[in-house]
Amino acid sequence: MLMIPFRNELRELTEIGLIIGGINWMFNLYFSSDWKFLAICLGFNSANSLFFCPWCPISKKEMSNVNKEWSISKQMDCINIYNGHHSVPLFNMIPLDHWIPDELHIMLRITDRLWNLVLHEIQETGYFNDVAREIIVKEMNRIKVNFHFWQEKGCQTWSFTSLMGQDKLKVLQFFDLSTILPPTRARAIRMLWDGFYDLYMDIRNPATNPKTFKRNAKMWLKIFLTPSTGGLYRPNDITPYIHVLVFHIHEFMEKHKKWGLKSFSCAAVENKNHQQVSQFFRKTLRDGGNGANRKSAIVQILEFENRKLHYNINDSQVTPKMIKLQV
Ligand SMILES: [Zn+2]
Repeated sequence: MLMIPFRNELRELTEIGLIIGGINWMFNLYFSSDWKFLAICLGFNSANSLFFCPWCPISKKEMSNVNKEWSISKQMDCINIYNGHHSVPLFNMIPLDHWIPDELHIMLRITDRLWNLVLHEIQETGYFNDVAREIIVKEMNRIKVNFHFWQEKGCQTWSFTSLMGQDKLKVLQFFDLSTILPPTRARAIRMLWDGFYDLYMDIRNPATNPKTFKRNAKMWLKIFLTPSTGGLYRPNDITPYIHVLVFHIHEFMEKHKKWGLKSFSCAAVENKNHQQVSQFFRKTLRDGGNGANRKSAIVQILEFENRKLHYNINDSQVTPKMIKLQV
């Protein structure tokens, strides 16, 4: 219910605009977030569903057919006729081609996939032992990435450090796969990783030609699958983010070339979130504190930032008193 006035205002901004100083300003709205939030706001299935793509009607079963073309074909006006759209979108005043996939999450999630596929391969061949883990950690140290393996109590599987974006890029570019894989296999996967790094750089470069990008992305998917050369990976290993990278990113590039896809990146928001979370856990007393009078974490963070902003703007000599944040 709280959303209704907000939605009405957004709709007014797009349909009527805003008059400022005698000029009627019209607004073009855009939406960019990670997959989960985008799917929730769109009233759409989660990424692991049969119908997973917010932009086209592809089903998981059709992922293996690389020769089939997919484009942004759903219409916001009738979005609920397509499979998987179970609720009315929160922001149906924003056309679907303005719901832009985030380049940061494309990089993060596809790098995760590539890394997990390599680990899975070592596990399957039965070489994922202490020696292999040590080699991986040593190679990570060489490329200046802080990385560890560990086992949770009573758990057989190995957990490992979740890397930040910059470290993921280092791994993608510099990790020497020949330390853990046979030479031919290492060369083939290195080519795939390099190809993905180049595509990611192309997404961020406003001068990239969308048609060239489309061709390169398609070629990259073929290398990903390459059944003729023994098969790097299986069609089942293609993730929704890979589908978006190969079939839709070039369309978004073309449609929004005036701004460039980098303009819609969530990197700044993610960075802010990281700062706030770190700040929160530096100050927190976790479950201690004021009991029932305790404020929610988000309110405490906002109040703390508000105070900091106040002192910055008013150029006060008095430094703000640090507050204690509690969960
Ligand atoms: Zn699609």
